[in-house]
Amino acid sequence: MSIEITHLGSGSKGNAALLSSGDSRALIDCGFSLRQTEKRLSLIGVAPDSIDAILVTHHHKDHSGSALNASKSWGAKLHCNLETAMRLGWRPLEDCRTFSNLERVECATGLSLITVPVPHDDAENVAVIASDREGGRVAIVTDLGEATAELEKHLRGCNHISIEANYDYTKLIQGPYPDSLKRRISGRGGHLSNTQTAELLGNVCHSGLDSIVLCHLSEKNNAPHLAESEVLMTIGDTFSGDISVSKQSGPEFSHWTGNAGSRRFAAA
Ligand SMILES: [Zn+2]
Ligand SMILES: [Zn+2]
Repeated sequence: MSIEITHLGSGSKGNAALLSSGDSRALIDCGFSLRQTEKRLSLIGVAPDSIDAILVTHHHKDHSGSALNASKSWGAKLHCNLETAMRLGWRPLEDCRTFSNLERVECATGLSLITVPVPHDDAENVAVIASDREGGRVAIVTDLGEATAELEKHLRGCNHISIEANYDYTKLIQGPYPDSLKRRISGRGGHLSNTQTAELLGNVCHSGLDSIVLCHLSEKNNAPHLAESEVLMTIGDTFSGDISVSKQSGPEFSHWTGNAGSRRFAAA
């Protein structure tokens, strides 16, 4: 058995990544409308009520959007930390289960999740490390201004890493945003640039890393070929797996732990 990873789409307008292992399914973030999420799941033949759990990384709308509605309408357990629940007005126990940093969340049979805190503006955001019984490990990491030693530790040994490559530094600086916003995006609580993501991947890349998905790309301040080429320039000598970019539309492809390829869907 392996963990299958499918991004339903990623970017500032919505994020959701489906993790499946055997019959167990967990959605990491649920930032699209309920209708849009169900439509995207139907494109890959997944019944919404087969999803066991939804984990919301932080309260920003592009991650939390329809999570509560989806949880109620699909009968999926909703997980988040206390700060996220408070910010969204979700009631612990009634609406959601709350986890602490680095706590193991057994969200479905055979699929467990560990949440690692990461720095992000005005939010208690977490990265998610998923593992199955066979020792497959997957990371989903978005919305952070910089990597931490703790995050790097958890990324080492992962077979798949989905990580944001939000902006190209030159494009951001020369782009249309006001200076204050440029500073916020590139600051400690903002987002990772292509360069930061490449450096982080360079630090954690190992022979068992099968696949990488770059996600949460800014439509104004980045482009898929820029993100991909910057990462490959840094890790190209050591990484021989599949690298893909998840866009705002989707789903476009799936990856599996233990497999250095990907499956592309005909139409997204
Ligand atoms: Zn986001
Ligand atoms: Zn955010």
